[in-house]
Amino acid sequence: MKKYIVANWKMNPQSVAEAEDILAYIDEYLKNETEKKERSLIICPPFVFLDDISKILSTSQLSQQAELGAQDIALADSGAWTGEVSGPMLKRLGVSYVIVGHSERRWKMGESDELVNKKLKTVLANDLTPIVCVGEKVRDNNFKEFLKNQLSATLAGLSDDEKGKCIIAYEPVWAISSNPDSHPDKPEDTLKAVNIIKEVLSPNTLVLYGGSVTSKNAKDFLLLEQIAGVLVGGVSVQKEEFVQILKNL
Ligand code: PEP
Repeated sequence: MKKYIVANWKMNPQSVAEAEDILAYIDEYLKNETEKKERSLIICPPFVFLDDISKILSTSQLSQQAELGAQDIALADSGAWTGEVSGPMLKRLGVSYVIVGHSERRWKMGESDELVNKKLKTVLANDLTPIVCVGEKVRDNNFKEFLKNQLSATLAGLSDDEKGKCIIAYEPVWAISSNPDSHPDKPEDTLKAVNIIKEVLSPNTLVLYGGSVTSKNAKDFLLLEQIAGVLVGGVSVQKEEFVQILKNL
C-alpha cells in the first residue's frame, strides 16, 4: 500500500537557498535509492517558496515521487483579500494539496471549525486535494467525543464523493513537537483515533498520523496498515533526519 509522507515546513526555512539545499539532499538520496518505494512525498513550504520549489520538483528525481502542497488557502478566488493566496494562484504554481485545519491555525490564529469548513470547500472547489487536520487538545475521557464533533463540524455539508477526496491527518495537539511537554502518541492509541475517523467517514478514508514523528518512531506508524502515512512538521526541514524517515519505507 502506498504511504504518504507529508512535510509541513511551517514558517521554515528562512531562505530559498536553504530550501534548495534541503531538496537537493533529498533528491540525492532518491537518485541513489536502489529499491523503488511505494510512497507519495508531499512538500508543503511557505507560500513564498512555492514557485522556486515547483521548478525544482519538476526538474529532478523528485518529479517522480514528490508533489507540492500549500499550508493554507484564501476563501475567495480573487479580489480584495489582503495577505491571502487563492486556489487558482496555487494551482498555477503546481500545487496539488492544501493543508487545512492545522492546530496552529485553529488554536494560535483562532480558526473555527466553521472557517476550516469553508476553506476545505474552497480547496475542493479548486480541484485540489485537502489534507484536513483534526485532533484533540487533551487526551481525556472526552477525547473520542471531541474528535467526532470536530470531524463532523469540519466536514459539514460535504457530499460522500467530496469526503472521499479528503486525506485526514490525525494530529493530537499535545503531540505536536512545538507544544510544551509534547510527545508522540502511542501507535495503539493512534489506531483508536483512526478507527473513530473511519467510523465517522468511511473505512477507506486515508488517515495520516502527525505529532513528533522522527526517524526513530516513523516506522511504528508507517508499518500499520490502517495508517496511510505520516505528517512531519519540525524535523521535515532537518534534511538528514527527514531522509532517515524516508529510509523507513
Ligand atoms: C505538524 O506541524 O503538523 C507536526 C506534526 O509537527 P511536528 O512533527 O513538529 O510535531
